[in-house]
Amino acid sequence: MSNALRDMIKKAKAREDTGMPSLEEGIDRFMTVESRNRRNDDGRWHPSQICGGMCPRFEVIERTRPDVVIQKSPPNAGLMQIFWLGTAIHAMYQNDVVGRMGHLWGFWRRVNGWDAEKQIPTWEIHEGFRPDWGTYSYADKGEYIPDRTSCEYIEIGVEAEHNMGGHVDGLLFMGDVSEVPAGLTTAEFIARFRDKIVIFELKSCNSRVFDSLLKPKEIHVKQGQLYMRGLGIKKTLFLYYNKNTSQLKEYVVDYDPTVTAETVTDMIETNEALEKRYLPAKKTECTRANSARAKACRGVRPCMTLGVGTAAVSQLRNYVGLPP
Ligand code: SF4
Repeated sequence: MSNALRDMIKKAKAREDTGMPSLEEGIDRFMTVESRNRRNDDGRWHPSQICGGMCPRFEVIERTRPDVVIQKSPPNAGLMQIFWLGTAIHAMYQNDVVGRMGHLWGFWRRVNGWDAEKQIPTWEIHEGFRPDWGTYSYADKGEYIPDRTSCEYIEIGVEAEHNMGGHVDGLLFMGDVSEVPAGLTTAEFIARFRDKIVIFELKSCNSRVFDSLLKPKEIHVKQGQLYMRGLGIKKTLFLYYNKNTSQLKEYVVDYDPTVTAETVTDMIETNEALEKRYLPAKKTECTRANSARAKACRGVRPCMTLGVGTAAVSQLRNYVGLPP
C-alpha cells in the first residue's frame, strides 16, 4: 500500500472519529472557488509572464481566437495555497522585516475609518518609507508584538513602454534615509536618488531549488532587467527564501539591456501585429511541430496550419480546426 493511500485512509478514519465535517475538504473547496475567481489579465505584458519566452505569433492567435488555443487550467487547491503562502512570505518581509528596517520605499496603508454609505473601510495611504503609525505594543516581558493590521505595504506599479506593466516587491534605499526629504512622490524619489536605489525582489522556493542556486535564476534576472528598464534603476537585489528552512541567499544584478533585448523586440512586434492585424512568423525553434517549444505551446495546432501576414489573420478568423 502506498504512503499516500495510507494517509488518505488514516485521514478518512480520523474524520469518521470526529463526527464533524472535514476542514481539509472545506479548505479544498474554498481554494478551488478562489482559483476560479482569479483574474490577472489586464492586457499588459507582465515580466513574470513573458520572461519564460514570449511569442508574438502566439499572442496574436490567442487574442484573436482564444477558442482555438488550449486553455490554461486554473490552479488547483494545492497550487493556490502555494501562491498564498508566497504572498504571506512577501507580506512578512515587506511589512514586518525589511519594512521595519526603514529602507523600504513604497506605499503603506491602514484602515482609518468606515464609509457607512458604501459599507466599506476607508484607507489612509502613505508614500515613502514605512510610517510610524504606532505599530508596537509591549507585552509583559518586554517583547514587542507587531500589529500586522495597521501598516500594510502596497507594491509599486511599473508602467513602461511597449505596454509592459507589473509590480516590484519594493525599492530599497541604500543611503542615509535622513537625506530624503519628506513628501516626495515615488517618481520624484527615483529621479533624485536613482543611484542609491535598488529594486527589491523576493523569491520563495523549496530546499531543492534553494540548495542548487549559485546565482539568481535566469527567468528572475530577465524580470529584474525589465523592471530596471521600466523604472530607470541600475540594480536589483534578489532575496531567495527557503520555505523549508527559512534560510536566505541574496544576489545583486546590474542593469544590462542585452539580457532582455529579444523580449523587448517580441513585445514591440506583438503590439505592432495586434494593431496592424497581421500574423507574425513562427519562432525559429518552431519550424517543426514536434520541436520542444512547439510541443509546449498552447497554440501549436493553428500555428502550424496558418500562414503569415494580414491574410493569415483572416484565415485565423475563419479557422476551423480540430478542437485544441
Ligand atoms: S508553436 Fe512556436 S511559433 Fe507557433 S505560436 Fe507556438 S511558440 Fe509561437
